[in-house]
Amino acid sequence: MATLATQDISDSFISDEEMLAEPCGWSRLFSLGSAFNTFDLQNDVYTFGRGANCDVKFDESSKHFQAYSKVHFQIYREKTSVGTHVFLEDRSTNGTFINSEKVGKGNKQVLNNNDEIALSFKYNKVYLYNDLQNTDNDLPKVVTEKYTVTKLLGKGACGEVKLCFSKGTCKKFAMKIIPKKKFSINDRVQINDPSRIMIEAKILKSVNHPCIIEVEEIIDTPENLFIVLELVEGGELFDRISSIGQLKEENAKLFFYQMATAVKYLHDLGITHRDLKPENILLFTNEEDTLIKLTDFGLSKFFDAGSMLKTFCGTPTYVAPEVLFSAGHGTYTEAIDSWSLGVILFVCLVGYPPFSEERKDMKLTEQILGGHYTFPKQYWSHISPEAIDLVRKLMTVNPSVRITLKETLEHPWFNDDAVLKKAYTLMHPNINGNCISMTPISRKRKAIEEEEKAIKKSR
Ligand code: ADP
Ligand code: MG
Repeated sequence: MATLATQDISDSFISDEEMLAEPCGWSRLFSLGSAFNTFDLQNDVYTFGRGANCDVKFDESSKHFQAYSKVHFQIYREKTSVGTHVFLEDRSTNGTFINSEKVGKGNKQVLNNNDEIALSFKYNKVYLYNDLQNTDNDLPKVVTEKYTVTKLLGKGACGEVKLCFSKGTCKKFAMKIIPKKKFSINDRVQINDPSRIMIEAKILKSVNHPCIIEVEEIIDTPENLFIVLELVEGGELFDRISSIGQLKEENAKLFFYQMATAVKYLHDLGITHRDLKPENILLFTNEEDTLIKLTDFGLSKFFDAGSMLKTFCGTPTYVAPEVLFSAGHGTYTEAIDSWSLGVILFVCLVGYPPFSEERKDMKLTEQILGGHYTFPKQYWSHISPEAIDLVRKLMTVNPSVRITLKETLEHPWFNDDAVLKKAYTLMHPNINGNCISMTPISRKRKAIEEEEKAIKKSR
């Protein structure tokens, strides 16, 4: 197997401007890292690394360039009597990872469609392997003309969310695919009304907030609705909490401030989220201090029965007592979001939910309806009284006295310049956070509100 000189494959590199809509080769490597190019594999063997003799030589501006080996890995295609297989061979000192699993120097691994390749560190994802055979099978032309749809990112009640790349620029997005026909939730059949889904999707498109997922485009077909969303790469808040047990109070405050700001923004527009839970709160990056992005909001407004049904089939951990009381058939106010946020804050702070099916003396629904939760010393002693007070005010059973989002943002727990400044900088990266560092908190908050008003106006 001969290796090729770098210039021999330069034709298969595709710059952002000239990215071909149609691939030319047997597989495509989509770039996941900024210093890596998307390109099509046409020959049988490719070597990748820092060394000048590699077929694909890594860019010196690449963040971890020094951690790469001269020949880091090799991809080759082998035709046998049982078919053609594609292998990745790890030749590096620091390791090549396929879907976060280290292959290990001298070892090889079969590459499958949608495998993610990372170099030296498992989070340093640089390529997504697309075998060009499996993709886009069931998707309509209006979608495949514009996007290459690849691996599954997540599943929810309404459908699937997949990673996709726009043809032409290879920019990454998340694509939410919502079937319009009958779909079942836990064996119960539900019919989605297409016109209502569409109205809702348009509402989604009209909102604009740094802590709310941005909608790039909506593609409407008779069978499905495809919502192309801004991609976030830090996973669900739920997984972050599960992996580390609980958040530090300061980190919980940073996240919660953003959640409250975003939900208040929705409430000001007359939109109630209705399905706030850690699975619907996504993290922008893997860093500890990161932007949060609310997703899946408002959809539930038109999925009323569906979303409530889902909630009732699952555990109603985040559902407000008044919703539970009328078994999902009543009319509610935006106060139901305050309750859910209270439960989320509880979970963020201590890593376990306030209500439990394991409790012997009281059924779960009874616990929620009566607001029977406690703050046992062994878990809560290190948590500030202000945080506990805010949880109590949010998780108040009577919705008419429950704290609103506006009041939440004014709660003493947020008298914390350092956290507010961090949140501001994350939410408004182009505006210098220092310009507000010396102003009192109330003025700072006003500045944020005014800016949000300006954003709203400009839409
Ligand atoms: P559903 O309405 O069906 O619950 P969601 O919008 O909550 O759908 O998406 C389901 C899951 O897909 C999320 O919990 C998340 O893991 C993943 N996901 C959704 N949107 C994105 C996105 N923009 N970027 C990355 N992953 C996403
Ligand atoms: Mg969801």
